[in-house]
Amino acid sequence: MSASSPRITAIDAHDIRFPTSRELDGSDAMNPDPDYSAAYVVLRTSSGSELAGHGFAFTIGRGNDVQVAAIRALAPYVVGRHVDELCADPGGLSRALVGDSQLRWLGPEKGVMHMAIGAVVNAAWDLAARHAGKPLWQFLAEADPEWLVSQVDFRYLTDALTPEEALGLLRRGREGAAVRAAELRERGYPAYTTSPGWLGYSDGKLTRLATEAVAAGFTQIKLKVGADLEDDIRRLRAARAAVGPDIRIAIDANQRWDVGQAIDWVRALAEFDPYWIEEPTSPDDVLGHAAIRRGVAPVRVATGEHAQNRIVFKQLLQSGAIDIAQIDAARVGGVNENLAVLLLAAKFGVPVCPHAGGVGLCELVQHLAMFDFVALSGTTENRVIEYVDHLHEHFADPVRIEGGRYAAPVAPGFSAAMLPRTLAEFAYPGGEFWAADLAAQAGPA
Ligand SMILES: [Mg+2]
Repeated sequence: MSASSPRITAIDAHDIRFPTSRELDGSDAMNPDPDYSAAYVVLRTSSGSELAGHGFAFTIGRGNDVQVAAIRALAPYVVGRHVDELCADPGGLSRALVGDSQLRWLGPEKGVMHMAIGAVVNAAWDLAARHAGKPLWQFLAEADPEWLVSQVDFRYLTDALTPEEALGLLRRGREGAAVRAAELRERGYPAYTTSPGWLGYSDGKLTRLATEAVAAGFTQIKLKVGADLEDDIRRLRAARAAVGPDIRIAIDANQRWDVGQAIDWVRALAEFDPYWIEEPTSPDDVLGHAAIRRGVAPVRVATGEHAQNRIVFKQLLQSGAIDIAQIDAARVGGVNENLAVLLLAAKFGVPVCPHAGGVGLCELVQHLAMFDFVALSGTTENRVIEYVDHLHEHFADPVRIEGGRYAAPVAPGFSAAMLPRTLAEFAYPGGEFWAADLAAQAGPA
């Protein structure tokens, strides 16, 4: 490595918050007033603004400062690294961060520290894809299968999936990949929308947005449920009347119920033909999900947006607890850990329907689903990426939705970069929006 090759010179960590709670956007049974936020990371390099890596952890307001502090604790592992080496082995960075002998106590591989690792590791993947001049989905889909396997941490996985099996899945996934990449560029990837279904919206707003979603080309919508059964029955009836029998309606309880209550509640909604019940109970309760799945069939069980690592996904799949795996791009330890989950799901034959929304989660996770289609599972059958139409204007390479489908990104990287204007306005508490808002709340001096 020559002394002149670029190095990482700094990790910037920004506390970015948006006042979404004021419109009840994002409201659900457990999170009635989210202020969508990002602990936003920029890996700066000695190449200046030409080359940088971007990533973030998504939070919903208070605590975003804790998330930022966790990211800053990782800086010594990253600053000073050669860019070429980092881009050749982002999985190696992931292993180093997960393996820190003292920080590991704060997890291991779960919670705030693991989300911080995910933000930094995703920024390294963004850097690697930019360095290669490809959007991340394409960077992954064209990567050597043996290299992809080398990026995955198989520790704790080999009772369900060995590196040899993973290599076999990836090699098979490459057959016909060029045809599928062309199809992806032509037609995009199917999406569903949660925009009509926030719990705080009136029935009129729900009906209007559901009708608009169908007119826009979506074939699936999602409603939040779980606060009040009579309300859920009324809202589901209104939604079903608005969209007709052929549009899939998923429902999402955001971890609201105990196991028995989940079964009873979903059965009470069965007449409206819900396609899946999402997060019916604690994200850690693998056996509880299995019991719910037995109790509510043929309604499918979906979870994963709060599954904290690949081991939980392994157990959900091994125990037959889920019909649909919902990866989140910013919950686990970065692209390489989501690669492990995609491989597990492919082995168990369970469709992956990624969680998105929040701020920037659509921008990120589309790349993982598109890689899976092009070069792993090879199909979009019964697969949809969540879409929510909020906050995309803050990103340099925002998602594009056309006819109810995600258009394939073409810009190099992971679509994670936020606009400078956004950082200036929504940094908390000193950005222009928050400074004015906090001054107004304080009242006249
Ligand atoms: Mg959800």
